[in-house]
Amino acid sequence: MLEVEDLVTSYGAVRALDAVSLSTKDGAITAVLGANGAGKTTLLRTIGGLVAPDSGRVRFDGTDVTGWPADRLTRNGLVHVPETGGVITEMTVEENLRLGALWRRDRADRAAALREVLELFPPLAERRNKLAATLSGGERQMLAIGRALMSRPRLLLLDEPSLGLAPLITLRILQVIEDLRAATGLTVLLVEQNARSALSVADHGFVLSLGKVVATDRAEDLLADDQLRHAYLGF
Ligand code: ATP
Repeated sequence: MLEVEDLVTSYGAVRALDAVSLSTKDGAITAVLGANGAGKTTLLRTIGGLVAPDSGRVRFDGTDVTGWPADRLTRNGLVHVPETGGVITEMTVEENLRLGALWRRDRADRAAALREVLELFPPLAERRNKLAATLSGGERQMLAIGRALMSRPRLLLLDEPSLGLAPLITLRILQVIEDLRAATGLTVLLVEQNARSALSVADHGFVLSLGKVVATDRAEDLLADDQLRHAYLGF
């Protein structure tokens, strides 16, 4: 599904990704973990077409998509939900959702996608005509994910969906991701600082430190590795 090979991304003199390689399987949830500044956001931004890498390759379903802009990736099934979600607070919930499918030509298809997303997130259905500014943090995160789902992606890049949320709300959001994967076979690359919650839903994990992959394993094996947890995952 996704193959990242020797990706190097810099901001001026700061090398944020230092030859990162990783891959995900179809229909798997893969967690990218690591401390602040490890390079997790940069990795998603580079895969998602928001930052150009210095070198390396990103392949999606066998196609080399390195350097493709975000809108082209979206149209081809790879959607990035950024850290802050990018919800437009001056617009209603429904208007925000519709933005996610503006590029789709088929009206009936857009309407079906809207119905599906509203079914998936009942709090959004209840607040459909309310301004996004009135939503709680958890609901805004649902809206950001819902908008991404409007384009029916095959691969979702999710950056810190738990940021600023209470643990219970975080679990609920991760549960929806897990249900979606089970129902639709969606593949997810999930960036989290909250390693414990991320590994509770992920199949595999990669641990980044200072721009390098320092560990990769099945989620349960990462959770069971005390030394690794203490050194890199903070719990
Ligand atoms: P966080 O959880 O804090 O978002 P992260 O693991 O996502 O951390 P990145 O945000 O990718 O890490 O940052 C990786 C490195 O790149 C850090 O050293 C950071 O200071 C640097 N960096 C990130 N964004 C920029 C930028 N726009 N300009 C300069 N340096 C940056």
